Amino acid sequence: MENQTSQSSAVRKIHFCYGHRVMGHENKCGTLHGHNGILWIHATPFHDLDAIGRVVDFSVLKEVIGGWVDEHWDHTMIIFKEDKNVIDLLKQAPGFKSIFVLDRNPTAENMAAYLLDEVCPVLLKGKGIYVHKIVFYETENCFVEQTTSLSYEVLRQKYN
Ligand SMILES: [Zn+2]
Repeated sequence: MENQTSQSSAVRKIHFCYGHRVMGHENKCGTLHGHNGILWIHATPFHDLDAIGRVVDFSVLKEVIGGWVDEHWDHTMIIFKEDKNVIDLLKQAPGFKSIFVLDRNPTAENMAAYLLDEVCPVLLKGKGIYVHKIVFYETENCFVEQTTSLSYEVLRQKYN
């Protein structure tokens, strides 16, 4: 739209329940515990809004990103790959779902960054949108914001 002087984002909220521990944490977050997490996924179009004036149908964000979170992170333990004792312990009590072994310590910042940098570009490939920010509420009172620092050109390559 030639006269447009503002940028649209579509934001979808995703709830999930998970357990983790932060390896090396100085106090209580170093113990296995759980959260009711809320993700706010902020998506932006590479070009214009679609033919009827949307960034994307909200259901796409729900199905694609919410579906991934449901499958991989909801109702399971998210454990750092270096946290061998916990991984061995959990293998002795297998549940309905596998644990999710993360390549980094599962702080809220690192989980949001993993989703933003590794997962979203794969899930939204070729859809004409990218995720520029994820806000992640680990509890009602504590949240992190993870924003992409990649250029428009690099983002286009990652998402196409
Ligand atoms: Zn925690």
